[in-house]
Amino acid sequence: MPAARPAWSDDDVEAFRDLAHAFLRKECAPHEERWAEQQHVDREVWLKAGEVGLLCPSIPTEYGGGGGTFALEAVMAEEQIRANAPSLGTAVHSTIVAHYLNSYGTEEQKQRWLPGLASGELVGAIAMTEPGTGSDLQSIRAKAIRTGDDYVIDGSKTFISNGYLANLVITVAKTDPDDAAAGISLVVVETDDAPGFSRGRMLKKIGQHGQDTAELFYDGVRVPSTNLLGGTEGQGFLQLMQQLPQERLVLGVAAVAAIEASVEMTIKYTKERHAFGRPVFNFQNTKFVLAEQATTATIGRVFLDDCIVKHLRGELDIPTASMAKWWLTQAQCDVADECLQLFGGYGYMQEYPISKMFTDSRIQKIYGGTNEIMKEIISRFL
Ligand SMILES: Cc1cc2nc3c(=O)[nH]c(=O)nc-3n(C[C@H](O)[C@H](O)[C@H](O)COP(=O)(O)OP(=O)(O)OC[C@H]3O[C@@H](n4cnc5c(N)ncnc54)[C@H](O)[C@@H]3O)c2cc1C
Repeated sequence: MPAARPAWSDDDVEAFRDLAHAFLRKECAPHEERWAEQQHVDREVWLKAGEVGLLCPSIPTEYGGGGGTFALEAVMAEEQIRANAPSLGTAVHSTIVAHYLNSYGTEEQKQRWLPGLASGELVGAIAMTEPGTGSDLQSIRAKAIRTGDDYVIDGSKTFISNGYLANLVITVAKTDPDDAAAGISLVVVETDDAPGFSRGRMLKKIGQHGQDTAELFYDGVRVPSTNLLGGTEGQGFLQLMQQLPQERLVLGVAAVAAIEASVEMTIKYTKERHAFGRPVFNFQNTKFVLAEQATTATIGRVFLDDCIVKHLRGELDIPTASMAKWWLTQAQCDVADECLQLFGGYGYMQEYPISKMFTDSRIQKIYGGTNEIMKEIISRFL
């Protein structure tokens, strides 16, 4: 059940969609199986994506970006699902990391880093989570202490998306370890020439196998004080809170695309598969289950499109973004489970894309702020 052109799209956005889809089908989908085995995409594909203009599409052209809006980021997330090529970590790289730099970076910082992210010479990651704390961000222990003209960073991070290939890591650290939120700053670490920086294990996950997720270690890593994002200490928590709605929305975009794809592939399969002399689709249970999933897909699409329109107008508020994140990702998991069941044993086989829809969906309820934290946030506005 492919979506009709959404209200937030136009001819330019659809042209970008075609470009993204063609690229993902040609340069990513054929390699997904190998990437899953090696647990990361090939480094070169970042450069290829940058070359055709798929990275940082909503960053201003003066910094090497595409000069578009969040609509392009949404299209990229949708097409990664539709092209069965979800591993290139562009949501973190373009939609999140580049936007931190664009929103809070000084002019010098934007000129220095954004063109590299847009070309793929830099791969971006954001490192908040630590072994000891995830949801409770104020309790992070990584420190970035001003020493002369440098910051000296010590600490460790875990579960970092793009962590294995990233060479530009926005690191969330305490510039004042005695303070909670007000002690947090965002420090940009260029990892190519950073003594004391190292990567730990490539983490083995139950899904999203082709996307690299790594541990990062900082042992007296020195960066110039000009790497403090925005140039003022103690702004990190506020910066994170302001950017999280966009991060949460893009997770909702992926959720709806996955719901639609799951329903579509299940309708097709059940119409082809026969049991007891008739297509599986013809059993009343199958029709009712699929009717329910199609309804969820429709409700999800309407809600998501409304959120995107609001976000493009700068009107998506924190509780609504949190609602989108928890509701759509919960729906994604429920739909994937119901659809997989209708594939019978084949649904459990990796060669059937519905199995990937199921395993890849599970993390959506956890990262970007767990769904429990989303409900905490929403309840504060009730
Ligand atoms: C594949 C993957 C990719 C990731 N990518 C990144 C990344 O790029 N960068 C990054 O910084 N992090 C990343 N993360 C980390 C992710 O954001 C955290 O795992 C998540 O925020 C939860 O933190 P935690 O794992 O420490 O769980 P905890 O905070 O320990 O939570 C454990 C449980 O307690 C619940 N809980 C905690 N506090 C409350 C509360 N106040 N009320 C009710 N329930 C609560 C949680 O909802 C959860 O169910 C990634 C994680 C994974 C698995």
